[in-house]
Amino acid sequence: MATGAPRALVVSAVRETLAAARASGVLPENWARAIGERLDGLLLPSLRPVINATGIVLHTNLGRAPLARVAIDRMRSVAEGYSTLEYDLASGKRGHRTVHCGPLLAQLTGAEAALVVNNAAGALVLVLNALCAGKEVLISRGELIEIGGAFRIPDILEKSGAILREVGTTNRTHLDDYRKALSERTGAVLTVHRSNFEQRGFVTTPPPTDIATVAHDHGVPFIYDLGSGLLADLTPWNLSGEPRVGDGVATGADAIVFSGDKLLGGPQAGCLVGMDSIVSRCRANPFARAMRADKFTLAALEATLSLYHDDEQARREIPVLAMLTASPEDLCNRARVLSDRCPKTYHAQTVSGVSAVGGGAFPDTSLPTTLVSLDPGARGADALAEALRSGNPSVAARIADGRVVLDPRTIQAHEEAPLLAALESVKVS
Ligand SMILES: *Cc1c(COP(=O)(O)O)cnc(C)c1O
Repeated sequence: MATGAPRALVVSAVRETLAAARASGVLPENWARAIGERLDGLLLPSLRPVINATGIVLHTNLGRAPLARVAIDRMRSVAEGYSTLEYDLASGKRGHRTVHCGPLLAQLTGAEAALVVNNAAGALVLVLNALCAGKEVLISRGELIEIGGAFRIPDILEKSGAILREVGTTNRTHLDDYRKALSERTGAVLTVHRSNFEQRGFVTTPPPTDIATVAHDHGVPFIYDLGSGLLADLTPWNLSGEPRVGDGVATGADAIVFSGDKLLGGPQAGCLVGMDSIVSRCRANPFARAMRADKFTLAALEATLSLYHDDEQARREIPVLAMLTASPEDLCNRARVLSDRCPKTYHAQTVSGVSAVGGGAFPDTSLPTTLVSLDPGARGADALAEALRSGNPSVAARIADGRVVLDPRTIQAHEEAPLLAALESVKVS
C-alpha cells in the first residue's frame, strides 16, 4: 500500500490514524491496514467521477451535463498541445478567442452576434454592467427569483452596478406597469425565465415580444435571461413549455443569456447572443476579460454546437438530449438487463417510476421510466446508499420505500460494468 506513495502523505496518514485512535480511544486491530486505508483516502482526488443513477438528468451537484464524445475528444486535443486559441493561422499573428464559438452560436440561434463567458450568471452581470451601470433596470416583481447556489437576481443586479426598479406585483405584471416605470433613468428592461418553478392561479405576465416592443418604443434595450439554453425541439418527446433560444431571439430581444451546461448539453459556459452593437459593447467591457472562457470550454462548446447542424445527430450524440428523449420501452429493457445482472443478494426487481429533468428546467415535468429496485438487506437503504456513494467508482442512487433504486435513464452504456462492479464490492453475502 505505501509503496510509491509520497512520503509526506504516508506521514500524514500515520499521524491521522494515531490521532483518530487517540480521539476515539479505540485502537485499530491492524495498524498497517488502518494506515493504508487512510492513505488511500488521501490519494483519492477530491473531484472524481460519479455514476449518476438518480435519474435526474441535469444534476447540478453532480456537474450538470455529461459531454458528447466529440466534445471530450476536442478538449483532449487542445489539452495535449498548443492550439489556435488566440492565433490567426493565415497571418501568423495574434487572433482572438471570441472567434471560436461566437459565429456558430449566432448562426444556430438566428442572432446577429454572440459571446461566450464562464457561466450564465457571469453573462448577465456582464450585459447589465455594459448597458445599465448607474441606470435603472425594470424587472417584474414576479421574476426577482433565486436560481440556487446564492444566485439571486436582485443581488446580481446590484453587483453589476445597475439599479433595480421593480414593476408589477408578485403574481401579476402588465405592460402598463413597464410603460409607467420607463423614464430617462431607464437603462434596460429585463425578463428572467422562471426556470425552476411555475406560478399557477391568478397570474399574468405579458409575452416577452410585447415587453420588447414597449422597451424599444422607449429606445431602451430588452434583455432576456432564458436560463437553460434549449436549442433542440423536444416537443415530439412531450417536453414543451421551455422556451428555445431561437424563440428568445425571435422576441426581438437585444441580448439573450443562457447556460452552456443545461439543456444545451455542453460544458459550463455563459452564452450571450443578440444584436451586434450590444454584443460588441459587452465584448469591450472589462468584465468580458475577467470572465473569459478557457480553451477547454471553447473546444467542448464548439464541438457540442456543431452537432446541432443535424437535429437527429444532436439528439443521439448529446447525452442530455439522448437521456431526455429515451423511450419508455428502451428504459424498460435497460432496467431488465441491469436487474438480471445485479448480484443475486440484492433481489433486484424492476418497477415503474419517474425521472426528473433537473437543473431548473421543465420544473413540472416528470418523465416515465423503469427503475431497478434493490433490497438493502439488514443494513437498510440509507447504509447501502452510503456505501455506494463512498465506493469506487462512486454511485449516487435514490431511496424509495426502504429500497435503493437505480434509474437507467442517467446511467450511460460505458458505466454499466463499473456500476455492477460497485454493487458487487459493497454487497453483503
Ligand atoms: C441556471 C440559470 C442561470 C445561471 O446559469 P449558470 O450557467 O449556472 O450561471 C441564470 N438564469 C436562469 C434563469 C437560470 O435558469
